Amino acid sequence: MRILLPSSVAAGGSAPQRRHTARALLAAALLAAALLAAQGCSGDSGGSGGATITVPPPPPTPVPTGPVGPLAAGQAYTDGPGYVEYTPGDAPVLIIAPHGGALSPSGLADRTCSGCVTVNDANTQELARTIVEAFRARTGARPHLLVNRLHRRKFDANRDRTEATGGGAALNATWVWFHEAADSARAAIVRRGQRGLVIDLHGHGHAVPRLELGYLLGDADLRASDATLAGNGAMARSSIARLAGDSRSTPDRGLGVLRGPRSLGALLANGGYPAVPSPADPAPLVGQEYFDGGYNTQRHGSVFGGPLDAIQIECNFAGVRDSESSRAAFANAVVNALLVYLDTHYGWRPAA
Ligand SMILES: [Zn+2]
Repeated sequence: MRILLPSSVAAGGSAPQRRHTARALLAAALLAAALLAAQGCSGDSGGSGGATITVPPPPPTPVPTGPVGPLAAGQAYTDGPGYVEYTPGDAPVLIIAPHGGALSPSGLADRTCSGCVTVNDANTQELARTIVEAFRARTGARPHLLVNRLHRRKFDANRDRTEATGGGAALNATWVWFHEAADSARAAIVRRGQRGLVIDLHGHGHAVPRLELGYLLGDADLRASDATLAGNGAMARSSIARLAGDSRSTPDRGLGVLRGPRSLGALLANGGYPAVPSPADPAPLVGQEYFDGGYNTQRHGSVFGGPLDAIQIECNFAGVRDSESSRAAFANAVVNALLVYLDTHYGWRPAA
């Protein structure tokens, strides 16, 4: 028996073509098995001298997914090996800690991609958990929390799949689970009829002790005047593009949500934690180091029209995340800022 395959199956082709090829091969194998079954298989027909044809069953091809619902607020879910963790919430905020994991299983290869960063952001997983708990204690509502429990030398949860995993296949399913968990949190917020905010929480070691808020706008962009940025459409290229157009606070639309008096940088600075950009510190000076955002702010914010906005918060160390008491104090300041921000720009208040 010969099985003729479409010509596209034999060729290499692009990624969509290869997916098509895989489906075509599977269909061909199933077709062959059906034909053989209909013929009562070939070897037992007696006397014809035909060779036995064995068609192996198609191998199982599990499709990686995120957490499977229904999901309960306040309960922690993990991917299969327990490398990443998602705790759903009921407030319109998702806090992600991609660089604060401690797990380093010997069976997992270290990432070896050239130029990839493998140093953790110390204490940021603990800080994220502290912020969530402080928010819940204050309001009764819980932000969604997404944590990478693996050390960054194993897995970087703020990169595309190849760089995140170091190119190996072992963590592909973990990477998919992580970002689908973020999608699940965003969808849960939308189902409640809300807009809201993703905070991607990091730590920096730069010389200036201040919070660096990343909106996907580079330091040179930020050094331009508000009028210039308004004229060149900068906010449409930012991770809060949607908020710049629909803030409940009409005067804050546009550049206001970036560095006006009710921007997140302003609210955090008012709480005692200097931040850039903010009214007092609208842009890094030439030569000053600054992180402007990354994969998560791009993927899970609104630059491509997503339903939630995203801000990367890069925390300095001393007095912010270096001790349990500093983390608790900073978490309180973040909650204070978030409550004003969510009310002002999204119209969300905790239930009385
Ligand atoms: Zn980081």
